Amino acid sequence: MTKKMDNLLDSLIVPPGKQIDLRNDYDPGHIGHFMSKEDAGEAIAAGISLLSLQQDKLYAQDTYALLIIFQAMDAAGKDSTIKHVMSGVNPQGVQVTSFKVPSVEELDHDYLWRNCIALPRRGDIGIFNRSYYEEVLVVRVHPEFLDRQHLPPQLRDRNIWTRRFEEINNFEKYLADNGIIVLKFFLYVSKEEQKKRFLQRVDEPDKNWKFSAADIRERACFEDYMDSYEDMFNHTSTIHAPWYIIPADHKWFTRLAVVSVIHRTLDRLHLAYPTVTSEEKEALLKAKAEMENESEGPGSTRKEEKRSGGKKA
Ligand code: ATP
Ligand code: MG
Repeated sequence: MTKKMDNLLDSLIVPPGKQIDLRNDYDPGHIGHFMSKEDAGEAIAAGISLLSLQQDKLYAQDTYALLIIFQAMDAAGKDSTIKHVMSGVNPQGVQVTSFKVPSVEELDHDYLWRNCIALPRRGDIGIFNRSYYEEVLVVRVHPEFLDRQHLPPQLRDRNIWTRRFEEINNFEKYLADNGIIVLKFFLYVSKEEQKKRFLQRVDEPDKNWKFSAADIRERACFEDYMDSYEDMFNHTSTIHAPWYIIPADHKWFTRLAVVSVIHRTLDRLHLAYPTVTSEEKEALLKAKAEMENESEGPGSTRKEEKRSGGKKA
C-alpha cells in the first residue's frame, strides 16, 4: 500500500479521544487523490483479490475473526458495498447478518443478545448490516422504541445513552481481547445524494422494491440522525475498535476505501498458513508414498474400462 493511500485511510478514522464535528470535518463527496471511477478501478480490483488471499489464510489459521459493522442512512450503499467488496471471498468463511426492527423474542433479551449469537467464529469474517449501534441511533432519534424494550423504569433515565456507549466500548474491548477484530464503517451519504438515489428508486421499476414510505419518514429526521451519529463517534471510536467515516456520495470511492481498510487491517495481523511439525511432515510424506504405491484396486476399474473402450474382457 502506498504512503498516499495509507494517509488517505488514516484521514477517515475518527481519532479516539478527540471530539469531531461530523458536518465540518468530513465530506461525503470526498474522493481523496483519485480522479474518477476509472482511475480507482485497478486499485479496487487489486484490493478485492488481495482480500481473497487474506481470507484464505485467516480461515486456515483459525485464530482471529473479523467483525465488520456497517452503519448508514438509507441508500448510502451498504448492500452494494458488501456485495462488491466481498465478491472475491470464499462464501464458506463469511456470514452477513442484517439487523432489522427487533422481533418480540429479541426484545425479550438484552440488546446485545441478538448480536452475540451472530458473532463470527475464529477464521471467519462476520458482517453486520446495521448492528447494536442502532440502539444509540434509531432508538435515540425515536425514544418511543424504548417502550418496547421491557426496561426497568429506573434504567430509562437520561443517562441511558452514555451508559450504552460505555457498555458497547466494554463489549468491543472484550471482543478485541478475544482475538475478534472489530472494524466499524459509517457510509456517509449527503442528504442531496440520498434524495437522488431515492428518486431513482421511484423512477426505475427494477428499483421500486428498494423503496419504502418509512425511508421518507427517516429522511425527515436526517439532521437528528447526524447529531446522534456524531455523539456516537465521539464516544465509541476507540484504539481497539475505531470508526471509519467513509465518504459515500461516490459508490466507487466507498468500495475502494472499505476494501482498502479491510485489506490493511488484515495485513497488520501478519496472517500465515499453519506450519506443520517435522513429525507431521514425515506423516504427510508417508501418506504420499502410500498413495503412490497403491495397487490398482477396484477403484481403477473405470479407468481400465475407458482404456479398453468400455468393453470388459
Ligand atoms: P435496505 O433498506 O437497504 O433493504 P435496511 O438495513 O435499511 O436495508 P430495512 O428493513 O429497510 O433494512 O430497515 C431496517 C430498519 O430496522 C431500519 O430502519 C433500522 O433503523 C431498524 N432497526 C435496526 N435495529 C433496530 C433496533 N435495535 N431498534 C429499532 N429499530 C431498529
Ligand atoms: Mg431501509
